[in-house]
Amino acid sequence: MSTTTHAIAAPGPGAPLEQTTIQRRDLRPDDVLIDIAYAGICHSDIHQARGEWGEAIFPMVPGHEIAGTVAAVGSAVTDYRVGDRVGVGCMVDSCGECEYCRADTEQFCVKGNVQTYNGVGFDGENTYGGYSKQVVVRDAFVCGIPDGIGLDVAAPLLCAGITTYSPLRQWGAGPGKKVAVVGLGGLGHMAVKLAAAMGAEVTVLSQSLKKQEDGKRLGATEYYATADETTFDVLRGRFDLILNTVSAQIPVDAYLGLLRVGGAMVNVGAPGEPLSYNAFSLIAGNKALAGSMIGGIAETQEMLNFCAEHGIGSDIETISAADVNTAYERVAASDVRYRFVIDTATIGA
Ligand SMILES: [Zn+2]
Ligand SMILES: [Zn+2]
Repeated sequence: MSTTTHAIAAPGPGAPLEQTTIQRRDLRPDDVLIDIAYAGICHSDIHQARGEWGEAIFPMVPGHEIAGTVAAVGSAVTDYRVGDRVGVGCMVDSCGECEYCRADTEQFCVKGNVQTYNGVGFDGENTYGGYSKQVVVRDAFVCGIPDGIGLDVAAPLLCAGITTYSPLRQWGAGPGKKVAVVGLGGLGHMAVKLAAAMGAEVTVLSQSLKKQEDGKRLGATEYYATADETTFDVLRGRFDLILNTVSAQIPVDAYLGLLRVGGAMVNVGAPGEPLSYNAFSLIAGNKALAGSMIGGIAETQEMLNFCAEHGIGSDIETISAADVNTAYERVAASDVRYRFVIDTATIGA
């Protein structure tokens, strides 16, 4: 048994997205039915809908930045009630028993976390994401959205927010620390807001100075153009932490040169081609080159609470269902400040 809900789907790799209907399962005892209000458009939605990340499941309903309200709960759900404001991010299930699940890092589940869309659940059913009016999710993978944050500006926190919050926390962004954020896009603008709220001194490293005013408004104290070669001399040895949000080739050695001794550069962007670096760029200064993948559910809740305390949401452009394909073109062209959010009331309307 299942119920029918309206959704926006890519029928095949690279095909324009179109409106359709999908089935959502009937509630199991630990399930939550969510009326989705807003769904953010993440760059990874576009890669997957276009089949750029290898094998994928079509039709695909993307969307892993989901915010809405609880419409119904299963008989065993105690943490959520009808009407609660909730969000769902990049995963909807994991084994719950392995060492990583037990350590609240479900994203590294040894059986594989179940992705919110373009995934297969432990029941063998394909998963469909947030470009939809309703979704059914196991309670353990639902987060509460505090009252202080609008659902529209909260939606992107579920991916862009946690993807940047987690490495900033892990690598000690805070008072007395100098943090550089590479790239001022969907991820970068969240990284600037969060690092500044954590008390770090934030510098944006962007290709040009085009978004300098935005960067300062978001919380950066300095802003440099990486197209200007002198930037890498001026800032040599400056940063404790560099968070690279760019999904493109960058001269890694040049960036590692901007770190203090013992500093770390953490990648959350994922370029299609391998990055290369000289080992001495790390050895000569005990530096670290690292990566980070979203965050666990407990940390995602911590991030949402932190955002509510500090009045942080995503900067968004709200669009209707009819605008999704245009929005994809604009995201691919880096023409959005800083996240598109689909008003799901316009789906199936
Ligand atoms: Zn994402
Ligand atoms: Zn597990």
